[in-house]
Amino acid sequence: MPGRTTVTVHADREVHPHRAVAPPIYQTATFSAVDAEEFARSALEARGTDFYTRYGNPNHAQAAAVVAELEGTEAAMVTASGMAALTTAVLALVRAGDHVIGQKSTYGGTASVLLNLLPRLGVSTTLVDQTDPGAFEKALRPKTRLILLETPSNPLLRITDLRAVARLARAHRVTTLADNTFATPLNQRPAESGVDVVWHSATKYLNGHGDVSAGVLAGPADLLDRIWETGVLTGAALGPIDAWLLLRGLRTLPLRVARHNANGQALAEALADHPAVSRVHYPGLAGHPQHRLAAEQMSGFGGVLGIEFTGGYDKADAFLGRLAYFRRSASLGGVESLAVHPASMWRGMLSEEQITDAVPPGLVRLAAGTEDTADLVADARAAADAVLAGTATA
Ligand SMILES: *Cc1c(COP(=O)(O)O)cnc(C)c1O
Repeated sequence: MPGRTTVTVHADREVHPHRAVAPPIYQTATFSAVDAEEFARSALEARGTDFYTRYGNPNHAQAAAVVAELEGTEAAMVTASGMAALTTAVLALVRAGDHVIGQKSTYGGTASVLLNLLPRLGVSTTLVDQTDPGAFEKALRPKTRLILLETPSNPLLRITDLRAVARLARAHRVTTLADNTFATPLNQRPAESGVDVVWHSATKYLNGHGDVSAGVLAGPADLLDRIWETGVLTGAALGPIDAWLLLRGLRTLPLRVARHNANGQALAEALADHPAVSRVHYPGLAGHPQHRLAAEQMSGFGGVLGIEFTGGYDKADAFLGRLAYFRRSASLGGVESLAVHPASMWRGMLSEEQITDAVPPGLVRLAAGTEDTADLVADARAAADAVLAGTATA
């Protein structure tokens, strides 16, 4: 088996029919067939590459080949965004009357699918505390079809025991879908723990340059075939140029993730003892309540961390205002460092209860980019010092 950095450079070679070293961009909406038979065959081929771009495109297949190899799954497919990956999978796998389990600490869009979209379609949902493996079992019902996992979770970096939940789900013939956006396949491979389908917002680390919206799904070919059929109907196809950019981003994923991991760990350690900070949420810290579980199922801890300020809402916002390298922006996983103060930025999108429970008012989410570690640590320390001295104001 070649190493994972080799895989990111070569895993698409078989779906790369041309001799150009950098693959061409197939900027075409449709493809031609020589006869009726070939036309019919290409239309029915799941995740094919030569019928119509909404059904599949060579640039899709190339990016998917790399993701499947990295995640250790039989197949993969790409979608127009992370949310397109999630909704397409969910619509393919559940019907009215079914029940879905999700986590209380989860990406806002995923929470909205669970709390709004699915109930509207007649699918009931239960959100559980993912730090308690027993909670998933308690939430199971005869009609449970799907469990949506996310670890580490956004924005509190809570960890789900993938092996335990996958084992439970298999015993009850329930499909598991894990959001691996924060970890990336370099730090965690949920399929190895028994999870059925892994998905990503490829907008984040997989593309890694903040210039593409994309999603991926990775899993067994038969399950992906079903999801692909629904994707043809939802029209969640990624544009060829964006698929090509995603492939370009994937080429350097292992190099970037190594730096993101180092930066995340250094920032967490630098801020953990700072007097302005009450708590740092980062699974790589020995003091993280789930550090042991995280270390068992992850080989690195990523570049995202949650910092809680003692002074609450105003201090968190003031900290953001003092950062030089971290820009106030709602994404993560790119080469550039970004930061959000969820309680103020997501004010209109979250209820009071969600703000205090899922998102503490004093919480800042830092997403370390690939800048030099010393620069990011100095930046965050100086901003925290200013918060403590009272010279930073919101
Ligand atoms: C950003 C994000 C998503 C949504 O992905 P989009 O590409 O924005 O649709 C889902 N899960 C997590 C953990 C994310 O950070």
